[in-house]
Amino acid sequence: MFRLDGRVALVTGGSRGIGRAISLTLARAGAEVFVNYARGEAAARETCELIASAGGKAEAVGFDVADTKATEAAVQKIAKDRGRLDVVVSNAGIAIDQLLLRLKDDDIDKQLAVNLKGAIALARAAIMPMMRARWGRLIFVSSVVGEMGNPGQTAYAATKAALLGVTKTIAKEYASRNVTVNAITPGFIETDMTASLPAAAKELMVKATPLGRIGKPEDVAAAALYLASEEAGFVTGQVLRVNGGLYV
Ligand code: NAP
Repeated sequence: MFRLDGRVALVTGGSRGIGRAISLTLARAGAEVFVNYARGEAAARETCELIASAGGKAEAVGFDVADTKATEAAVQKIAKDRGRLDVVVSNAGIAIDQLLLRLKDDDIDKQLAVNLKGAIALARAAIMPMMRARWGRLIFVSSVVGEMGNPGQTAYAATKAALLGVTKTIAKEYASRNVTVNAITPGFIETDMTASLPAAAKELMVKATPLGRIGKPEDVAAAALYLASEEAGFVTGQVLRVNGGLYV
């Protein structure tokens, strides 16, 4: 069940955290995985080595998703070299936390460019090979914050909420080509992104999570594998919540 043998996948932000876990999980299921990074080339290579040592196939590919031309070129190259691109996970994301009154224009722009514009450009480039193949899986990593809000994350929450609109729209546009498009909204997950939060804030999050723990990147990766699989072929335009019950 949930095998991806023969499939080619691209995971943006696959160098660390949730993206690394998704890359490892898709590769373990049999996919060849292109592991994208922006700055962390060494970390991306480490993800690839972990995949290779488990008997899988992976390649690191550097581009900044905010650079839409570079993103398009990288996607086109993978599709041309491999003759296909079956699964694309738009996972790269940044959070610049600041209360509304202190939020700088530049920080709004940065989060919009990476989390939203980058994700749309990635999907725009990826849809072509998927349409041609009459098979594709686009998965956006959004956030519980886009559904419930969170103090200090106005711009971040805006980008993550917007991704849900993006998911539902692209799902409707390409369903006739057998391309499914879904979003995952993770809750509080243990990665570099949440590592710097004060202990008290982490404790509050765990208390607010009915399952009583912080999520692991692997919790999110399992959802991505399901959505990428043949078995999820009748699931599109959906939001899969992996949040321990934090928002229901
Ligand atoms: P993380 O540990 O901070 O890792 C972020 C990843 O995104 C890194 O691989 C990073 O690559 C990549 N990245 C950042 N900017 C990029 C850019 N411009 N172009 C290409 N790649 C870029 O974050 P994470 O916690 O794993 O988060 C992954 C996704 O899940 C994000 O979209 C985040 O918003 C979402 N999410 C996280 C949580 C959570 O609690 N952790 C909850 C809900 C949603 P480099 O190292 O090369 O820069």
